[in-house]
Amino acid sequence: MSVRAFAAKAVKSSFEPMTFDPGPLADGDVHVRVTHCGICHSDLSMLDNEWGISQYPLVPGHEVVGVVESVGRSVTHLRAGQRVGLGWQCGACMRCEWCSRGRQHLCGTQAATIVGRHGGFATHVRAQAEFAVPIPDAISSELAGPLMCAGATVFTPMLTHKVTAGDRCAVVGIGGLGHLALQFLSKWGCPVTAISSTRSKEAEARAFGASAFLATSEPAALAGAANSFDYIISTISADADWNALVNTLRPQGRLVIVGVPNSPLSIAAFPMIASERTVAGGRLGSPADVTQMLDFAARTGVRPMIEKFKMSDVNRAMDRLRSGQARYRVVLESEG
Ligand SMILES: [Zn+2]
Ligand SMILES: [Zn+2]
Repeated sequence: MSVRAFAAKAVKSSFEPMTFDPGPLADGDVHVRVTHCGICHSDLSMLDNEWGISQYPLVPGHEVVGVVESVGRSVTHLRAGQRVGLGWQCGACMRCEWCSRGRQHLCGTQAATIVGRHGGFATHVRAQAEFAVPIPDAISSELAGPLMCAGATVFTPMLTHKVTAGDRCAVVGIGGLGHLALQFLSKWGCPVTAISSTRSKEAEARAFGASAFLATSEPAALAGAANSFDYIISTISADADWNALVNTLRPQGRLVIVGVPNSPLSIAAFPMIASERTVAGGRLGSPADVTQMLDFAARTGVRPMIEKFKMSDVNRAMDRLRSGQARYRVVLESEG
């Protein structure tokens, strides 16, 4: 059995066809034929070895959607022909304290789909069966891809931080993650303010569910919103005026950071202490969290807005992502 993939041979290089043998299927794994794969900003970070963990040849792709082709001997809950999605995590020990609690995304020995193994820019991927999550019929395969990382990344913190209907919320950064966060929070029953540098995305943000819009390039925009929000999710990978954002939180409000800014955060302690505010990191969750996210999206119509490319056009697709101009998520489609 051989897998055809698109691989980068070196840091920041372009993708070239590569064939590899995935070996025998492990008892607990599934072999999935890829039909679609979203491209996430983390794929670009891995291509550029921004985090120092990339290995080449690198086959990115961790917003994978496909069809189970075969299952390992001990897999009983999935069968050939089933449509599944796979995100950043593809394995965990399933025995530690965190796995036992159903918090497999916090397992200390977890495996990531594109770290030290090959991801979804390929005809097939392998994963531990628990991490191949069935996709509800209501969600098309091309739109399911971006939910597997971007969607899960913005949805899980809503559960972790117990966001409830009516909470006053804000989303910082209206891009691949932010346009989904606006939809999830508004469908959750929350009034949501979109916060962006300029007003260029205001009309689209309102269409995604924002009931208000703040442009941080306008004077005193954040200062004017002091004590406004119970929950803020920041999706930007740039620096921001974090102290001004903390001050937009109401008492006991939470600022959850899921994008990775360039610089360490410098945040004054007193405004956090005085109003019992929280600044936290957030990430995508367990397979159960992903299942809940997909079910909620299927029922409420939360869907990514995508630009679609053929898998063989992966270099042009990656350039489009790198440009920062994509609205809002890039998806590769397999050619058979
Ligand atoms: Zn991702
Ligand atoms: Zn574990």
